[in-house]
Amino acid sequence: MSNQLNETHNPSLTSWVESANQENCDFPIQNLPFAVFRKAGSSEAFRGGVAIGDQVLDLAAAKNSGIFSGLAQEAISACDAPELNKFMGMGKTAWSALRQALSQALSSGSDAQDKLSSCLISQTEVEYSLPCRIGDYTDFYTSIHHATAVGKLFRPDNPLLPNYKWVPIGYHGRSSSIDVSGQQFKRPSGQLKAPDAEKPIVAPCKRLDYEMEVGIYIGNGNQLGEAISIEKAEDHVFGLCLFNDWSARDIQGWEYQPLGPFLAKNFASTVSPWIITTEALAPFRAEWTRDADEPQPLEYLESKQNREAGSFDVQLEVQLETAKMREAGEPASHLSLSNFRHSYWTVAQMVAHHSVNGCNLMPGDMFGSGTQSGPEQAEAGSLLELSNGGKQTITLDNGETRTFIEDGDTVIMRGWCQRDGAKRIGFGEVTGTVLPAE
Ligand code: MN
Repeated sequence: MSNQLNETHNPSLTSWVESANQENCDFPIQNLPFAVFRKAGSSEAFRGGVAIGDQVLDLAAAKNSGIFSGLAQEAISACDAPELNKFMGMGKTAWSALRQALSQALSSGSDAQDKLSSCLISQTEVEYSLPCRIGDYTDFYTSIHHATAVGKLFRPDNPLLPNYKWVPIGYHGRSSSIDVSGQQFKRPSGQLKAPDAEKPIVAPCKRLDYEMEVGIYIGNGNQLGEAISIEKAEDHVFGLCLFNDWSARDIQGWEYQPLGPFLAKNFASTVSPWIITTEALAPFRAEWTRDADEPQPLEYLESKQNREAGSFDVQLEVQLETAKMREAGEPASHLSLSNFRHSYWTVAQMVAHHSVNGCNLMPGDMFGSGTQSGPEQAEAGSLLELSNGGKQTITLDNGETRTFIEDGDTVIMRGWCQRDGAKRIGFGEVTGTVLPAE
């Protein structure tokens, strides 16, 4: 389990990049997340960067600074690419070597300041691309609170199917429509069928929703035919991001049986630009428990480390900015606040389960955690739950109401980790905007 603390987590570390030392900064020196960026509006090559305060450290430039050596130099060289798959595939020893070298070089008083200060660019001046080529995308369903709430709407008599407490349920999604924060897409059309209608129609979806998920990036993969044990599972996890897995609920309701989600889920999904490494999250691990009266996990999903620190304590907030708010210059309206630690299954259990049949994971593959709803209504990670299936309107701060997403709406998700004795770190944000259907 990747919960070992080292000098890079020391809460008293500060950086010579002054903005990184400000209270409530998402990207203090203890974080050091990775993205792929270039100067906004330019034709520069996209390349890897690390966030520090309100700046991006350009890893393609830093690679030539002469201050890194050995494995850290090999790792930073792999980041001079428009996709981080090669670096992610190098494994945790290389990720750690680079993190440690960057932490030292960016620390207050470092000799590297002179050489690295010219490798910084303000985050307000860059644009991002996907951080890696996502070969395969798998969507899990790990919040029992979400599964139960949604199950009640789709199957009132039988909300939670009996396999849920044994199998980390998932399905294979589609990666081609995953884009980075700022994504804009047209309201999808598809087959819709009202419960009392004789036949379906094809029309723009009317019950468009978001899903507040955590994205999980695989680093080094496994050989086809070889399962990853739960003890080794997190060695294969490069890091986490915020993930909005947009969903067309009316298309979903008609198409989802018997094989599961299809066109209701594959028209757009949006990731935050920054990958927060598993190592950066080490101070924010939490125990994972399963009540004694619930089924206990099968052996391949059970380990001592998973019990002690298998969960991630990440706060997850959703806000909605309507077109009217934007025009009036009003702030976005809060919709929900949840936490990834409520997940019924852990990241390690997802990895162990996904590979138990020998399925090979590849560097840059991504898992969606499934909508992360908590036990309370205010922690619901979708409008489907917040509006009780569209039956209750939600009143926003400016008096507008919603049951589902309307054209021009921007959904904003934020994530952060905070606890006594550790430096707060943030995930930044993921935003996405819905445009009218054709
Ligand atoms: Mn999903």
